Amino acid sequence: MEIKTATFIVSNSDYRKCPTDGRPEYAFIGRSNVGKSSLINMLTKNKSLAKTSVRPGKTQLINHFLINNEWYLVDLPGYGYAKISKNARAEWLKMIKDYFINREELVSTFVLIDSRIEPQKIDLDFISFLGRNGIPLSIVFTKVDKQNQRETALNVNAFKNALAEEWEELPPIFITSSVSGTGRSKILTFIEETNKMV
Ligand code: GDP
Repeated sequence: MEIKTATFIVSNSDYRKCPTDGRPEYAFIGRSNVGKSSLINMLTKNKSLAKTSVRPGKTQLINHFLINNEWYLVDLPGYGYAKISKNARAEWLKMIKDYFINREELVSTFVLIDSRIEPQKIDLDFISFLGRNGIPLSIVFTKVDKQNQRETALNVNAFKNALAEEWEELPPIFITSSVSGTGRSKILTFIEETNKMV
């Protein structure tokens, strides 16, 4: 898929206020600092669509970007930021649960995982939450330019093994770098193919 247009539409804290035109949407989420904003900017070839410099822990919102007038890319606030207050964490949880459980336009979710680290409970727990609620997902390993292929493969395999303890069939897996553009065409082709089926 060629990205012809990528436009910011709206930010919300409530899924009920998200766009209601029925276009399919794809959500991106992961631990704070995993490289989500960089990935969104890499996919859309727009250096500043998603804000990479937003201070973690401040009020975070569900952001809708309209792509090619066809589908929405949804930037969801990340989890796992250590300094967030209890209240802010509870608000995040409610917003995210409501979104995932109720948002009918959501077709698929990309869960971003840092390829440099071994499997983390917080990521596995989040993936379990999606699985329990029947939310289709893919895994996107980020920042692979930061180490060699062998190190990436070790972490990816360890993650697959951790997933295999709970899942009979593994979700689609993408290996990416926002610096080199690795994985871009595979993710966009996946979205293009999925859009044909919805
Ligand atoms: P977010 O909090 O998940 O949106 O993460 P950001 O996109 O803001 O990225 C966090 C940090 O990781 C920034 O310093 C980015 O420049 C860096 N980063 C993100 N993706 C990559 C990548 O693919 N390769 C490298 N080398 N650095 C990355």
